[in-house]
Amino acid sequence: MMHVAFDAARSLLIGGRWEAVDATMDVVDPWSGAALGAVACADASHVERAVAAAMHGAAAMRELPTGVRSRILHAAALALEADGERFAAAITAETGKPIRNAAREVARAVNTLRLSAEEAVRLAGETIAFDGFPGGESRSGHYIYEPVGVVAAITPFNDPLNLVCHKLGPAFAAGNAVVFKPAEQAPLVAIMLARLLLAAGLPEGALNLLTGRGADFGDALTSHPDVAMVSFTGGASVGQAICRSAGIKRVAMELGGNGPVIVMDDADVDRAAAACVSGAFGAAGQNCIGVQRIYVHDAVHDRFRAALIAATRALRVGDPTDLSTDIGPMIGTGEATRIAAWIEEAVAGGATLLAGGERAGALVRPTLLADVPDDARVACSEAFGPVASLFRFADLDEAIDAANRADYAIHAAIFTESIRNARHAARRLRAAGVMINDSTDYRLDAMPFGGAGRGNMGREGVRFAAREMSQTKVICFHDA
Ligand code: NAD
Repeated sequence: MMHVAFDAARSLLIGGRWEAVDATMDVVDPWSGAALGAVACADASHVERAVAAAMHGAAAMRELPTGVRSRILHAAALALEADGERFAAAITAETGKPIRNAAREVARAVNTLRLSAEEAVRLAGETIAFDGFPGGESRSGHYIYEPVGVVAAITPFNDPLNLVCHKLGPAFAAGNAVVFKPAEQAPLVAIMLARLLLAAGLPEGALNLLTGRGADFGDALTSHPDVAMVSFTGGASVGQAICRSAGIKRVAMELGGNGPVIVMDDADVDRAAAACVSGAFGAAGQNCIGVQRIYVHDAVHDRFRAALIAATRALRVGDPTDLSTDIGPMIGTGEATRIAAWIEEAVAGGATLLAGGERAGALVRPTLLADVPDDARVACSEAFGPVASLFRFADLDEAIDAANRADYAIHAAIFTESIRNARHAARRLRAAGVMINDSTDYRLDAMPFGGAGRGNMGREGVRFAAREMSQTKVICFHDA
């Protein structure tokens, strides 16, 4: 695997210039424990200056023809594609994501930037038929999409490149400037991406990058009166804190999930088992749409369970730089210890361990549980780790009710060969996306993506995010 040198990362990007900062924090490779480099820690004074620079950047972006915005994003996509191997190696180094998955994330990020480039020239309004309605006579007009101004983009560690592109791409396509705060565990890929975007021709101040701890400067950023919108992806508790501090401004929240999959008696059992294993354990389960709860019909339960256990045990677990590795470490020992404690708690409460359960450092073996009590955290809270629980049911509505019990929902899934079952589940499952014969972790970067129920605050997916990051303006001519 390519080695990446993380040089000169101890700076913040403010107004087009990299500024060295005294306070720094180490970024650690979760697999080897080695320090990869140090990044700058921003504070509230940097927020003040970054937002002021972004106000200038927003004025420049607003004037930039959409065709130029589009060309910058196309150039960035090309540059990322050309440098893909280095980016993939960097993702693996700072997150422990297996290199094959990291390469897939880079390819998706290239696509996300391309979609953003296309959206820049598509983001147009419509003519309104004013004179079709009483009171509209002698009027004509249309509406347009205008940028909101300065967007604060805050991202999590698990997809440190593509989830960032899902914020920066649409923000620039819509003509905004950004103050970007990457995850503290994975800021090095963010710095590489910022350099690449500047080189692609973004105007000064359009992108400002503040690394460091959310607790140190997150509040100053999200509550800033010149920040027009906060676009956040991360956990529900930080999301709550941001909603409280943001006040009256646009807030988009991409929060967690607790992915339920239903396997019907008419499902292709082997296909369903393979999809559940990859959906539950890919990225060591650190995936907001990962499979966490699997509901299996009595009639196929034993066959499915055997296939699931066999496929889980066949996963290659270990060094994420090895091309043959399926599952690497979690983001750190702290997270691995938490999930190991949740597994222990479930087993103490009566759960049966079907596979896995062991932890060594940040590595947790893919773990399958059955007979899990309803109140165990592995079932009722977002696990965000390599553990999935198996439940059985006799009737589809019973499974749907159980699937709908989670607080936060993004995707739900059903495996069935019956169009009737599929349509029924698609209507009744409380989720923002229902996958038929795919696991919950299917996502195409062009599709609308977000939460349902309590997590329903905005949509990503490039076209949808670009609209969220715009405001409509009506222009009306009175001819008489
Ligand atoms: P997190 O909530 O701990 O952190 C997310 C970001 O918020 C980080 O950049 C962090 O530094 C920042 N932050 C922390 N405190 C802040 C504050 N007070 N003000 C402003 N920013 C602050 O999440 P994480 O552990 O990095 O990621 C895991 C979570 O992200 C999971 O819950 C997962 O489901 C969720 N996630 C959601 C999606 C989605 O698209 N819905 C995608 C990936 C991850």
